[in-house]
Amino acid sequence: MTVTRFAPSPTGYIHVGNLRTALMNFLIARKESGTFILRIDDTDPERSKEEYVDAIKQDLEWLGLTWDRVERQSARLDRYAAAADKLRDMGRFYEAFETPTELDLKRKKQLNMGKPPVYDRAALSLSEAEQEALRAERGAGVWRFKLNQERIEWTDGILGDVSIDAASVSDPVLIRGDGQVLYTLASVVDDTEMGVTHVVRGSDHVTNTATQIQIIEALGGNVPRFAHHSLLTGPQGESLSKRLGTLSLRDLRAAGVEPMALLSLMARLGSADPIELRSEMEQLIEGFDIERFGAAPTKFDSNDLYPLTARHLQSLPFEAVEEHVRATGVPADLGPLFWEVTRENITTLRDLEAWWLMCRDGAQPVIEDEDREFVAEAMALLPEGPYDRDSWGSWTTAVKDATGRKGRALFMPLRKALTGQAHGPDMNKLLPLLQNIRAKG
Ligand code: GLU
Repeated sequence: MTVTRFAPSPTGYIHVGNLRTALMNFLIARKESGTFILRIDDTDPERSKEEYVDAIKQDLEWLGLTWDRVERQSARLDRYAAAADKLRDMGRFYEAFETPTELDLKRKKQLNMGKPPVYDRAALSLSEAEQEALRAERGAGVWRFKLNQERIEWTDGILGDVSIDAASVSDPVLIRGDGQVLYTLASVVDDTEMGVTHVVRGSDHVTNTATQIQIIEALGGNVPRFAHHSLLTGPQGESLSKRLGTLSLRDLRAAGVEPMALLSLMARLGSADPIELRSEMEQLIEGFDIERFGAAPTKFDSNDLYPLTARHLQSLPFEAVEEHVRATGVPADLGPLFWEVTRENITTLRDLEAWWLMCRDGAQPVIEDEDREFVAEAMALLPEGPYDRDSWGSWTTAVKDATGRKGRALFMPLRKALTGQAHGPDMNKLLPLLQNIRAKG
């Protein structure tokens, strides 16, 4: 049985980078009819906030990334304590007392000597009396996991065969001096006890994975299949880390990006397959294959979301947007026609409002000097509303007969006079929607 999880820390809003992780784990679980767990990594009581937990859920719900259950690390502290005891009993866990400044100094010395800045395990040679003395002086130490210094190897779903020399990695701190359990341990205990079979996460976690594999093995758990996706960069390959804050899912939602546009892009970006706009989650699930993704950094341009959003909206029947059209203020009887007329002329649903205000209040007419007389003459021929789908045709025929103008010279000044714009919806359909016409010449 396939079990995956998305494990955000509730310390902020989730962004497109997190979405990539969430979506891949979701798609794997759904493709295999497995379980998708939303795991809240909230062992840090200072930085974790309930409002972010709620926000993460809302964002995932907006996208239709439904989870089968929620787990919270803060509710499982006893499990982590039990695992820590087990590691202690096995002699794989040791207390270390260096201050951050001391560690920093050690690192600098190592680097100066051209050595990798790996923790020197000085704490392992402390006698019990020395430990006691340090504890009395500095308080409880941190607890480090003692890595077996051998190569750690796994076949990564995206990176292929990975081999990391454990001797080049510091023994990871799993418990802080104040007793706070750190992510590395909590995550391993959860993955093992929850039967997680596949873990997809960002390539910034590759070294974590190496150490976690040893911890899982020490605890006697099954090692899940790991896949590390590349990190997103901006369109020019620049780092996105600083800009990710502006690429939160809630900002994209507020900007009018449609869920299926975002999901369609993210389900393929960085893979060997082309981006295809899908209208159903099922199609994304069907077409997903983690092995098609590459290790190279993936360029993300939020501008790509808008053409996809526009295309998605064009494909929607009125029923799908009825609520939104109504909320825009369009009277119920005009709704279907309004949608038919505007859907090809919007990028996001937010653009509906401007079209509606134009229909309701009339546009600021645009009339070129050389058309002034012509427009005045035409407006005099415009019958009183309400209009139907034949009104534009019969009116422009009458104007043509009266003025001799035809083609573009006939239609364009009238369009600009009525809508204030040179481009826009089919006038046959638009005219019946115009509640108010201001272009009296
Ligand atoms: N809370 C971790 C993070 O957000 C989870 C990483 C993982 O998937 O194991 O980076």
